[in-house]
Amino acid sequence: MENNKKINHWCILCGAGYHSCDACSRERSFLPWRTLTDTAEHYKIFMVLKDYNSGRLDKASAREMLEGLDLTGKEHYRDGAKRVLADIGMDDESASDTRKTSRGVREQ
Ligand SMILES: [Zn+2]
Repeated sequence: MENNKKINHWCILCGAGYHSCDACSRERSFLPWRTLTDTAEHYKIFMVLKDYNSGRLDKASAREMLEGLDLTGKEHYRDGAKRVLADIGMDDESASDTRKTSRGVREQ
């Protein structure tokens, strides 16, 4: 039993539950991303989306930064995050894989 490791945070990007000790977070070695996301990578992605949303990054810069990050599992991100990704053009629809076209679907 690990009752002291209970889930008390949910990733702001993907919604995954994780444990982060709030008491430890107040120590000087505190890693700020632990209070927002489950992984450091998700924190970086979230910061790009946040900066884009607030106008500090333009679409091209945001896209460039996201291309350097691991977007594995982005289909499980929270709706708000997915919407921003789609706006930047990093969702599956606008990505290189365009097998599914919206029009002209024919039976084989
Ligand atoms: Zn996450």
